Amino acid sequence: MKKLLVASGNDNKVMEIRSVLSETGMEKILSLKDFGISLEVEENGITLEENAVIKAKAVFKLMGIPVISDDTGLFVDALKGEPGVYSARYAGPEGSYQDNCDLLLSNMKHADDKSPNAYFKCVICLMESAEDLKLFEGICTGRISEIPRGKNGFGYDPVFIPSGYDKTFAELEYDEKNKISHRGIALMKLKDYLIDLNKKETCTP
Ligand code: IMP
Repeated sequence: MKKLLVASGNDNKVMEIRSVLSETGMEKILSLKDFGISLEVEENGITLEENAVIKAKAVFKLMGIPVISDDTGLFVDALKGEPGVYSARYAGPEGSYQDNCDLLLSNMKHADDKSPNAYFKCVICLMESAEDLKLFEGICTGRISEIPRGKNGFGYDPVFIPSGYDKTFAELEYDEKNKISHRGIALMKLKDYLIDLNKKETCTP
């Protein structure tokens, strides 16, 4: 496989994926923007896996080249797994990252369960052909901070403290976060798969 299309309009995500997958022997890692396309796919699955597959299928159908898509959620014990698959729109379709964090902290204050434990899960779907679909998963466990801290990153980064750290994701440097993050872990699994695949293809006469 020489070309891979990242089914995302998020420049930071595309940049991160390009940097991790640059050593896999892929000639081109393309984004939707490279084709001048912005595609809104309705993510109406009830699991991250379903949503990642929905996105990959929609983009593969349109473009006909190997595609990766991803979906991520934050699962909080005290909130019985919320916001989970609805992490992006927790505070409503127009809610900002800050609104999502504020709502999360407020709901935790009122929850009966006081456990701060939480985890991020990221699922990446690779669609090589219409019949060939693979999933790669990354999980990062941690806890929710009582108050938001840090300026880096995005989303729930200011309220998430990864296991083994005292800092929130938003207080970590970009590279440090990517080494331990859910998306970083899922991407490393995809990277290993692509390296093997491209080695096999090079050896096949
Ligand atoms: P997406 O599937 O990558 O778009 O992620 C869905 C939502 O989860 C985002 O809108 C963010 O609110 C949150 N999220 C995903 N990844 C991260 C992360 O690495 N840190 C903080 N929040 C994240």
